[in-house]
Amino acid sequence: KFGHIQLAPPDPILGTAVAYNKDPHPNKVNLGVGAYRTNEGKPLIFQAVREAERALIEDPAVNHEYLGIDGHEGFVRLARELLLGADSPAIAEHRVASSQGISGTGSLRIGAEFLSVYLHPPCVLISEPTWGNHITIFEKVNVPVKKYPYWKLETRGIDLDGMLAALNEAPAGSVVLLHSCAHNPTGVDPTHEQWERIFEVILARDLLAFFDSAYQGFATGDLEADAWAIRSFISRGGQCLVSQSFAKNAGLYGERIGALHIVCTDSDTTERVLSQLKIVVRAMYSNPPLHGALIMAKILGDPALRENWQNELRGVAHRIIDMRRALYEGLIKLGIAGDWTHITSQIGMFSYTGLTPAQCEVMINKWHCYMLKNGRISMTGINTHNVEYVAAAIKDSLES
Ligand code: PMP
Repeated sequence: KFGHIQLAPPDPILGTAVAYNKDPHPNKVNLGVGAYRTNEGKPLIFQAVREAERALIEDPAVNHEYLGIDGHEGFVRLARELLLGADSPAIAEHRVASSQGISGTGSLRIGAEFLSVYLHPPCVLISEPTWGNHITIFEKVNVPVKKYPYWKLETRGIDLDGMLAALNEAPAGSVVLLHSCAHNPTGVDPTHEQWERIFEVILARDLLAFFDSAYQGFATGDLEADAWAIRSFISRGGQCLVSQSFAKNAGLYGERIGALHIVCTDSDTTERVLSQLKIVVRAMYSNPPLHGALIMAKILGDPALRENWQNELRGVAHRIIDMRRALYEGLIKLGIAGDWTHITSQIGMFSYTGLTPAQCEVMINKWHCYMLKNGRISMTGINTHNVEYVAAAIKDSLES
C-alpha cells in the first residue's frame, strides 16, 4: 500500500537545526534557529511564564478538561485586546470573531481553510520572499498562490512600487498576506507612510488583508508599536483576518498558543462567522490545547505578571538590537567592503544579509555557521562570545 511513496525533502529550516546539532566543531554557530537564545546560547523561559505555571499547579480550580472549540474564553479576550488595543472600537462593537488557534501556524491554517470554504478567493498574494510555510498552507486549501515583489536587492529595502503594482493588478476579492511587523525573512517593514499607501490600494480595490502577527513586542520591544499596522488598517474601516502567535514574544514555542481574529463590519456577521469557523476547527482538531492558554490568560490578566513579562520582552528585543550593532561594528572593524547598514536597520529576529547561496555554503561548510541558503541569519544565534567569529566568517565568505 505504501511502497510508491517518495522520500520528501527535509524542511529547509528544521533541516538546518539537524545539521547544526550533528556538527562536533567547537566554534559552530546556529544562525538558522527560529527561536530566541540568551547571550549564553540557551533557550529562555520568561520569569512570568515560570510564575504563572507555578500558580497554575497550586490552583485548585485548574483541571485538564477539554476547552471549547474556540478555546479559552479569558485567553481569547485578553489576546485580542493585546493585539487590537483595549480601547479598540471593533472590540467594543463586537465586530471581531476570535478563536484560539494552534500557535501562529495553526491560526493561519484555520484562517486559510475558512477563506477557502466560505469566500473562494481567486488567489492569495504573498510577499516574495516570505516564510515558506505561508505558501504551503494556502496550497493545502487550494487557494492559488501569487507573489508580490517585496525585497529590492539594490537598496536592501522594500520594493514598494513593485508591491503596489501587483496589488493594483490583483483580481477583486484576492487575499493579501501581510507580515504585521518584523518581516520574515527580510527584517524590512514598511514605514507608516508606506503602510498607508498599501492600505489605500487594498481598500480601494476591495482586497482582503490577512495579517500574520508572529512577532508583536519582539520587533521593537514595544507591544503597541508592533501592532500599529493592524490597528491602523482596522481604524480605516478595513475588514481583515489576523493570526497571532505567542511562540516568540512569550517563549511558548512548544505550547502552540495563538489565536485567529476575523474583523467584520457588524456584530451579527461576526456571530455567523465565528459559528462557521468553529465548524472548520471541529473537523481539524476538535479543540485547542489548554496549557499555553492558561499561562497567557494568567499573565495578561495579572497586572504584576504582565508588567514583568513586558519588561523581560523589552530586554529580549534589545539584546537582538544590540547584537545587530555589534555585528555591524565587527564587520566595519574588519574593513568589509560595501554598505552593511541593513544589518542595523532591519528589525526582528532575522537579518537578510544579501549573501549569495555560494557564500552561504562557505559560511556553513568552512565556518560552521549554520544559516539558510537564501542569506537569512537569525540574530538570536549571535552573542557577545561569537559575534566577532561570525563577522570574520561573513567577511571571508564574501571574499571566497
Ligand atoms: N509566521 C511567521 C512569519 C513566522 O516567522 C512564524 C514562525 N517562524 C510563524 C508564522 C509561526 O510560528 P508558530 O506556529 O510557532 O507560532
